[in-house]
Amino acid sequence: MGFLEEIQRRRTFGIISHPDAGKTTLTEKLLLFGGAIQEAGAVKNNKIKKGATSDFMEIERQRGISVSTSVLAFNYQDKKINILDTPGHKDFAEDTFRTLTAVDSVIVVIDVAKGVEEQTEKLVAVCRMRKIPIIVFINKLDREGKDAFDLMDEVEQKLGLTVTPLSFPIGMGYDFQGIYNLWEQNINLFSGDSRKNIEETIAFSDVQSPELEKIIGQKPADKLREELELIDEVYPKFDRQDYLDGKLQPVFFGSALNNFGVRELLDCFVEIAPSPRPKDSETRLVDPEEQKMSGFVFKIHANMDPKHRDRLAFIKIVSGTFERNKPYYHVRQKKNLKFSSPNAFFAEKKEIVDISYPGDIVGLHDTGNFKIGDTLTEGELMSFKGIPSFSPEHFRYINNADPMKAKQLDKGIDQLMDEGVAQLFTLEMNNRKIIGTVGALQYEVIQYRLEHEYGAKCTYENFPVHKACWVKPNDPKSEEFKEFRRIKQKFLAHDKYGQLVFLADSDFTIQMTQNKYPNVKLFFTSEFE
Ligand code: GDP
Repeated sequence: MGFLEEIQRRRTFGIISHPDAGKTTLTEKLLLFGGAIQEAGAVKNNKIKKGATSDFMEIERQRGISVSTSVLAFNYQDKKINILDTPGHKDFAEDTFRTLTAVDSVIVVIDVAKGVEEQTEKLVAVCRMRKIPIIVFINKLDREGKDAFDLMDEVEQKLGLTVTPLSFPIGMGYDFQGIYNLWEQNINLFSGDSRKNIEETIAFSDVQSPELEKIIGQKPADKLREELELIDEVYPKFDRQDYLDGKLQPVFFGSALNNFGVRELLDCFVEIAPSPRPKDSETRLVDPEEQKMSGFVFKIHANMDPKHRDRLAFIKIVSGTFERNKPYYHVRQKKNLKFSSPNAFFAEKKEIVDISYPGDIVGLHDTGNFKIGDTLTEGELMSFKGIPSFSPEHFRYINNADPMKAKQLDKGIDQLMDEGVAQLFTLEMNNRKIIGTVGALQYEVIQYRLEHEYGAKCTYENFPVHKACWVKPNDPKSEEFKEFRRIKQKFLAHDKYGQLVFLADSDFTIQMTQNKYPNVKLFFTSEFE
């Protein structure tokens, strides 16, 4: 197979959802269809349950699982599918945001009874910002839930999407009979006593046909016809380009647990979802079809074995082919690196590969060369855009609790920050270190890992910050900026890239500050124009 065909057949995507909507179940069913696994239960759920907060063993176990489920690849029809794992737990939202920079599309799973939940809203907002093509899968139709039309309204309003159904449920919960597939124009009956059998599909291009009554009964048939008419009137026709441009989002219904509606989703997905897309770098747009290799690090995972300090850096290949033992240029460090055992991922296993293509994820063993966001090229001085830091929501001083281990502590903090576990801010005034996280759970993870992997001990101390604002003065030499620096000096810090950050204690302070110093701009993410 040629280079271009290899690119065209790749589908790299993420499944996002609020915890418990059915992301793990759906992932597993997709792998079953791909023949990549033989039985249910093979895909590990890497959820951290509420209440497991102080259970360190649980955190360790989760880290192990999260390596094995980071990328799940399989072949389906003639396509190579790469599913990137996105943690649903809100304390790991930052990890998910970063993973979203490496996907070419997403599937959003929504629980039919719960509707759009908080975490879904946040993640979809990020996808919308990045114009990532989205397919919506409404799950758990075997249960009583919200009316399908109401739910689509909710999806449009809360998620700011424009939807059009490509499948539609016939009944729901106890009366769930199956699905009308608008994409393939057939009916798929939910059958079998156990309701777990692989479905029976009946081609049905004309719903006016009296055959419909025979199959699903008079009343449901009338209802379905009405509903399809309504769909025709109210929702836009599906248009692939609109979907690819992020302007239209197709909706599917099903029950992942019952293996129902999943094949329809997958068949449509492989047909419409984008192959690897061009990606913006700071200097230019990079096309996947370019011959020269380029890629970027979107995730770093520490080795599970504390005796081996090496880590696995996950690289998304953007262009060209990534080859084993070939030197690549590490743009930030300005040096060439060679990798003798790059890992590729297949189903839930990883293996050494000689060549990878755009869209693929390669796992590279790393002894501390990589940070999240790093770019590899064949020599071009170029960095990919798009891995911003968001303002953390919690802030604490980190103190050394063992004076003999100051070096270990610094090294540990440094490496954990490179992995993206949390963000470090160093106060300008006194060089004290502040750790910012998305969730409180991270503080325990950091403390535990510092002790077990680096032999260092730390304590925390509260620091009342509401938000970190990245600071950009219109004119760094202006009196206004000098005054801002003088007045706010107690609250100024640097992030790990040396960017100036204002640690504000409230929204009110941010507002006041912005009013008083209109030429000193404050940003809530580290990426700004
Ligand atoms: P995740 O947190 O989004 O990964 O959700 P899981 O896949 O772990 O699913 C959460 C729970 O919902 C599990 O108990 C699943 O068995 C259940 N579940 C998933 N899909 C369905 C479905 O289609 N119907 C029903 N009734 N339960 C489901």
